[in-house]
Amino acid sequence: MLESIRALLNTWRIPNETREPIDFFESEEDIHQFMIEQWNEKLPFASVKEVKNFRDTIREAVEQQKPLQPLFEKYPLQVMIDDESNGITYQAIGEENLYTFILRIIISAITNKQWGRLKACPDCKWVFYDQSRNSSKRWCGMYAEGEGGRACGTIAKVKRHRAKKKASSSYIK
Ligand SMILES: [Zn+2]
Repeated sequence: MLESIRALLNTWRIPNETREPIDFFESEEDIHQFMIEQWNEKLPFASVKEVKNFRDTIREAVEQQKPLQPLFEKYPLQVMIDDESNGITYQAIGEENLYTFILRIIISAITNKQWGRLKACPDCKWVFYDQSRNSSKRWCGMYAEGEGGRACGTIAKVKRHRAKKKASSSYIK
């Protein structure tokens, strides 16, 4: 399910070929199509603009560690305890919509300690899931030989290399 959030965030991207941001959510139909592809659902939402704002707030949380809490205040959920008091679920207060549906997925990702592994590449802004053991990955897996021909992380690597070289050469002196 977290994979669908990753897909949602990547409906806005900066392709390496052009370096111009593109947004795949232009119309209500685009959003309907996305929901069908991801969840086979057609959930209600207010407007294209609101969905974009919602998506961007989640992106800011992933990219810049901004809080998600404001979304949970805007689209509140209620805690549901099952009859045997063994399980907790969260339900929309009122009608389930696209926002509460997505927030429920985020809650389970946070509970399963998966959420922090969702990262945005600082170069191309592509959102990926960090599978590394110690969750240390910073850039996406885009290499210069690949599509777009631009390696993410290259500028930082070159800078680091230069700084190292400088440090070692001044040490020799
Ligand atoms: Zn990248």
